[in-house]
Amino acid sequence: MTPTPAVLSVPARPVSDPCGPGYISSLTVADAGRPRRLVLLGATGSIGVSTLKVAAEHPESYRIVGLAGAVNVTLLAEQAAAFRPPVLAVLTGERAAALARLLPAGYRPDILVGPAGYAAMAAMAEADLVVSAIVGAAGLLPTLAAVAAGKIVALANKESLVLAGDLIRTAAAGSGAVILPVDSEHNALFQALGGAALPDLPLVERLVLTASGGPFRATSRAGLEAVTPAMALNHPNWSMGPKISVDSATLMNKGLEVIEACRLYGLPVAQVDVVVHPQSIVHSLVQLHDGSLLAHLGPPDMRVAIAYCLGYPRRLSLSVPRVDLVKLASLTFEAPREEDFPCLGLARQALGSGASHTVALNAANEVAVDLFLKERLAFMDIPAAIAAALDAHSGETLADADAVMDLDVRVRREVADWARAR
Ligand code: NDP
Ligand code: MG
Repeated sequence: MTPTPAVLSVPARPVSDPCGPGYISSLTVADAGRPRRLVLLGATGSIGVSTLKVAAEHPESYRIVGLAGAVNVTLLAEQAAAFRPPVLAVLTGERAAALARLLPAGYRPDILVGPAGYAAMAAMAEADLVVSAIVGAAGLLPTLAAVAAGKIVALANKESLVLAGDLIRTAAAGSGAVILPVDSEHNALFQALGGAALPDLPLVERLVLTASGGPFRATSRAGLEAVTPAMALNHPNWSMGPKISVDSATLMNKGLEVIEACRLYGLPVAQVDVVVHPQSIVHSLVQLHDGSLLAHLGPPDMRVAIAYCLGYPRRLSLSVPRVDLVKLASLTFEAPREEDFPCLGLARQALGSGASHTVALNAANEVAVDLFLKERLAFMDIPAAIAAALDAHSGETLADADAVMDLDVRVRREVADWARAR
């Protein structure tokens, strides 16, 4: 398989300017004596809340100019009252009216509505950096809007890259947008490669993504058949939204992250390994051709990765718990149980089959996870639903975001039919 070009300009092979001209030059602009202006998409989610905690630790460095939620207007109103951005966005007109009623007297921001509102907020001229933290395929269009507008994009919404890595790369090349990975593994790779982002960059041999193994790392196959939503939402190390928590339990999260890594770094799937590391302290590693392994270690707290993106190329101080190595005593690694957790292999299969297959994979996963959370599918039906969707998908050319979203809708319908027929 020919390596795909990378979204990030950190290379898989030596080049003279690994970070590309867009990176440092565009980022130094925001350092020129004024706070960096942030738009936060998915403000009311787990990443959104963590992002605001990081910004609140550095009030002199950040100004929040846009906050977007979907339905949780109570939390959005609290966040808006604290940070006073001039623009807010929610999913529907009804939510917008409810939000307006909750805002403090005398504070009257513009309230944008729906996908078009999110895209407008992502592209607003007043923003330097957009944190893309909407969950699922709904994050694609606003992410593309931020990239097309040439923003610094701190990308948590990994589904965007799974759906449309090529479109994002092309848009970034056209606009000069800078994409910084928030996902802890890819952020770790980015940090580890930071030292190697020099003209004499050694060759990268492989990327090693670490996985916690989720709550069912040691659960028998029979036990997996009996997993309930409450069990799947109870992640041992990370506190996250419901969809990614289930993805972590099925190992689909790692599958999506393999695709994300291949598309960010332009490496073929054979050069991206997964290793289970239950302590979640080593967040990923880069293996170089001289046998060196460059790793990033830290507490399992997304504020570390978020802060690296918000501050880049500077580092921010952060009041997260420090890792106590002596108390930890050991860091362990093991191979993933791929036969019992088929989602990882299904993601690799989709990646190898072509761009539209990863759209089908993602849509099938989103529907299956949603039905599992509603107790209408069993835990092990999730990989079955995805396998059925991939089997039924013969591949198609996706010229633009509309084509991607059209395929996404069709596959969702097929998977819902498949689930009803069970
Ligand atoms: P959450 O479920 O906690 O939050 C999701 C956010 O998206 C909420 O703000 C929600 O709004 C909003 N949202 C939901 N549906 C829509 C929609 N249709 N349109 C617009 N906004 C919508 O998710 P997380 O914060 O856990 O994850 C966000 C993204 O970051 C995901 O792509 C995930 O894979 C990625 N990520 C998350 C990590 C984590 O630790 N949580 C780690 C690495 C990546 P509301 O609540 O108002 O309905
Ligand atoms: Mg991750």
